[in-house]
Amino acid sequence: NTVLFANRVEKTYGNGTRALDEVRLRIQRGDFVSLLGPSGCGKSTLLKMYAGLEAPSHGHLRWLGTDTPAKSGLKIAMVFQEATLMPWANIATNVRLPLDLAGVPRAEADARVERALEPVGLGAFGKAYPRELSGGMQMRASIARALVTEPDVLLMDEPFGALDEFTRNKLDADLRALWAARNQQLTVVFVTHSIYESVYLSSRVVMMAARPGRIVADVAIPEPVRDE
Ligand code: ADP
Ligand code: ADP
Repeated sequence: NTVLFANRVEKTYGNGTRALDEVRLRIQRGDFVSLLGPSGCGKSTLLKMYAGLEAPSHGHLRWLGTDTPAKSGLKIAMVFQEATLMPWANIATNVRLPLDLAGVPRAEADARVERALEPVGLGAFGKAYPRELSGGMQMRASIARALVTEPDVLLMDEPFGALDEFTRNKLDADLRALWAARNQQLTVVFVTHSIYESVYLSSRVVMMAARPGRIVADVAIPEPVRDE
């Protein structure tokens, strides 16, 4: 039940920077994987490859055994470090965007947006505009927009890095609950450089080191650690 697979992946950017070397990582359905490591160790590069946004220089990636995300039929959603909301549209319209792009009928889309805003605590804010919300609420809206399509894979690139510690801890707890509610159906890959966050959130911590980026440890996190 391998959802994402990277085999002997190497990445050298156009300017000669070696970002990844001999990376081999198999991610199973329902895993919550944290990619943990110092700045520049290739975490974002690896995440972008799983999203299909970067190609390896050597080696290969597989999505459910196929060679492109499209062929796999996997629904993949990505959340970036900054909330990337359209400032001229209200929260409901922002969250509805992926459904509009997929041609989901308006009434069904509106119902799904409502169901997506509720669990991230924005049920009452559909009509608000991004500038009226705090940074944490804007991140929640970005997460709702990623989840509204009911993705199989959620890729998150340091989504809470810009937030204060209190807000970040709260969002970590909420994200874990959202993942648990999907009951082994949602696969998450979460980039962070916080050891605390990775251990608290994940079912598995993959540690990377830099120059060139490579995997140095791959550790399963037992339930009791997280549910104390
Ligand atoms: P490629 O040439 O592999 O397609 P890009 O088009 O993404 O790479 O980037 C073009 C150039 O921009 C790179 O060769 C590099 O000099 C610079 N660049 C972009 N992002 C970064 C980064 N995060 N760190 C260092 N240099 C970067
Ligand atoms: P991390 O997410 O762990 O901070 P990145 O994947 O962003 O690491 O970057 C890995 C290495 O590749 C770094 O040395 C970075 O400067 C370099 N890099 C990232 N993107 C580009 C790019 N587009 N062009 C050139 N170098 C890049």
